[in-house]
Amino acid sequence: MASHNHILVVGCGVIGLQTAVCLLEQDSRSSVTIWAEKTKHETTSFGAGASYTPETNLGPLEKTKLWCKRTLNHLKLLSEDSQATGVYFCDGYRFQSEETKTIPADFITFGFENVTHVTQSNDTEKVLENTLYTHAWKYNTACVDMPRYLCYLEDRFYQLGGKHIIKRKVTLNNLVSAPFNIIVNCTGLGARELFNDKEMIPIRGQTIKMHIPGAKEQFYKAKEKNGDVTYVYPRGNGIFVLGGTFQPEEHDTTVNQETAKSILERCARMVPQLNFNAQVLDHWVGLRPHRKTGVRLEFETIQGKLFLHHYGHSGSGVTLSYGSSLEAAQMINKKSKL
Ligand SMILES: Cc1cc2nc3c(=O)[nH]c(=O)nc-3n(C[C@H](O)[C@H](O)[C@H](O)COP(=O)(O)OP(=O)(O)OC[C@H]3O[C@@H](n4cnc5c(N)ncnc54)[C@H](O)[C@@H]3O)c2cc1C
Repeated sequence: MASHNHILVVGCGVIGLQTAVCLLEQDSRSSVTIWAEKTKHETTSFGAGASYTPETNLGPLEKTKLWCKRTLNHLKLLSEDSQATGVYFCDGYRFQSEETKTIPADFITFGFENVTHVTQSNDTEKVLENTLYTHAWKYNTACVDMPRYLCYLEDRFYQLGGKHIIKRKVTLNNLVSAPFNIIVNCTGLGARELFNDKEMIPIRGQTIKMHIPGAKEQFYKAKEKNGDVTYVYPRGNGIFVLGGTFQPEEHDTTVNQETAKSILERCARMVPQLNFNAQVLDHWVGLRPHRKTGVRLEFETIQGKLFLHHYGHSGSGVTLSYGSSLEAAQMINKKSKL
């Protein structure tokens, strides 16, 4: 292995950008270039909610826990300069159905701290008033304004000496013959076609962007059997992302007006004290890059070229981004020293 790596990262969503930044932070002598068919507002990452949402079904649980924890600690540091990074911490409320009175399992698994049970008797913020719910769980979590966060990562990439971000759709043949000694594959759902990974499936999500004056918390109601998931996530500066849907194997990226209407109705039922009559700023549909057996982070040699695969972060790409990217960079660093 060459002592100074010439690395190509393919993909410029949150995973590609974060991996490129971690590679440069780990070894400033590396030369790192990014190629991507889509950048910034064209990526899935741009439209993500994006709240810190650890999930248990993303691969080996111990790895997921470590990656989430590292990301959370990193986001805490970045939240010290929210205006520049787009990372905020806010209070959140998770509503549950009447039958489920126990603390959500993922809060325990991922060690959420200072979780409070909100019932009719201690509902000082009146979040239960005029809703269908008799209780909720209050917590504190990270929310990321993705348009700003992607800009922050891109700036950081160049500050650290990153070479170029080039817009280009690639084939496997292009990559095998490209003049780099390591290729890091951060193509998300694109890996299905590029590397023939049939475990990759889209999980469709539709959202609405809206300005809601006076609001600052996040609100969430867990997934329902029909795939509806209802949430109101702040992006800072009074902008909110309202969701949504969770539709496995759905590829359609056009906005469905019926779904948009249902999202607004569900959010208004969940948080009646907020004003959802404001002007809609944007409708959006994205496909979560879900991998049935979890995130793929492993080396593969194809026609003599070394690849590190790093994709399949499903509906938690932001939540896992720093932790799994740090590990990707450490794996390359370790290999370089062999
Ligand atoms: C509605 C919705 C809400 C979400 N909310 C949250 C949330 O609250 N919290 C959270 O943690 N996550 C959330 N997510 C998930 C998150 O958005 C994804 O996990 C994350 O964006 C994946 O990042 P990525 O970089 O792997 O993929 P992408 O952002 O899709 O980037 C993939 C990159 O690979 C490039 N590429 C692919 N194929 C090729 C090719 N052949 N040649 C060149 N380039 C290629 C693309 O052009 C792109 O640049 C949400 C997703 C959706 C859809």
